[in-house]
Amino acid sequence: MAKIIAIANQKGGVGKTTTVINMSAAIAENKKKVLIIDSDPQGNSTTGLGIDKQSIDNTLYQLMIDDTIKDYVPLNTDVDGLDIIPTDIQLAGAEIELIDVSEREFILKNIIKKFSLNDKYDYIIIDCPPSLNILTINAMACANSVLIPLQCEFLAMEGLSQFLHTYSLIKEKMNPDLDIEGVVFTMYDNRTNLSAQVVQEVLQYLGNTTFTALIPRSIRLSEAPSFGQPINVYDKKSKGAKAYMLLAQGIMERNKK
Ligand code: ATP
Ligand code: MG
Repeated sequence: MAKIIAIANQKGGVGKTTTVINMSAAIAENKKKVLIIDSDPQGNSTTGLGIDKQSIDNTLYQLMIDDTIKDYVPLNTDVDGLDIIPTDIQLAGAEIELIDVSEREFILKNIIKKFSLNDKYDYIIIDCPPSLNILTINAMACANSVLIPLQCEFLAMEGLSQFLHTYSLIKEKMNPDLDIEGVVFTMYDNRTNLSAQVVQEVLQYLGNTTFTALIPRSIRLSEAPSFGQPINVYDKKSKGAKAYMLLAQGIMERNKK
């Protein structure tokens, strides 16, 4: 059975996609089978892995809208062991188009079941859009856990408490087994007090036993997507690659069967 982790935070630009791509590629480097589901209409995980959106067929949108599709195999990426369900801008229409669909919170859950994706992968990692819309709800309704990227900056805590409120609602109403996997502090700058303060505050709020990881601010991490490569391919020796490898190992350690 795959472990399904939604990478979510309603705030934009906090490092969700960077975490999805690089954590997934690092888990795959450890000989696990990993599937990324790109559930953000911006399709940044898709392009960040070097996939040309013009050339794809069977996007997440098509799978969500068309229930007559009987066979489906996710797309291979250039990284061994890493596949993706890609996305293009059409997914932006999903919220409106799905308005009349019954059980519309569970469409992604049904896709995973219908194509037996749970049996084919060790990890399924879902990239969520920067909002608490039906796509994020679908991701959290089918996941085992949520991993929350937080940018170490002023007001990070405010966004977190808002997110946790939604998390509690989804857990109560749709997915009682949903857990918090942990928090990834992104763009961490050890030269500022603010980064350290944010980490302190979050640990006070969530408890000291919460799983956390620190990802430093690094130019190499921001460059890699324009080459369509995860950081462990683009610059394996960089501090960003090392930080994402540590995060991947932490996640695998927590989820050892
Ligand atoms: P959105 O909410 O729009 O989907 P996001 O939460 O997925 O955004 P990313 O796209 O991962 O965030 O990151 C936002 C920007 O910050 C990108 O330009 C990315 O390259 C950059 N970035 C992310 N993490 C780091 C880091 N550790 N160091 C430097 N730049 C980073
Ligand atoms: Mg993103």
